[in-house]
Amino acid sequence: MSEVRCATHGLQQATFVCQHIADGLLTRNRVGFFWTDETPENPRPDAWCSACNDRVQATNGDWIGEALAHLEVKTLCGACYDMAKVFHTGDNPWS
Ligand SMILES: [Zn+2]
Ligand SMILES: [Zn+2]
Repeated sequence: MSEVRCATHGLQQATFVCQHIADGLLTRNRVGFFWTDETPENPRPDAWCSACNDRVQATNGDWIGEALAHLEVKTLCGACYDMAKVFHTGDNPWS
């Protein structure tokens, strides 16, 4: 498990999400939240938005071509990931 230092949350687990989830958290624009299965080793698996999910369905689940071109993976700290998941699945992490 790799770590990342977040300006807000300090040293945290490094997590990986598509650019739309990371940007949406900053701009508070809800884009949906899809993720691979959680495992005991990683409770914060890689995640992507609804639009990326549509594109990866079109490639039968492979991150290739259009799906990969729009993904642009960003690193989020574990605490930011938790907030992004709450926000993009429809709740308000700031309330
Ligand atoms: Zn996306
Ligand atoms: Zn953070």
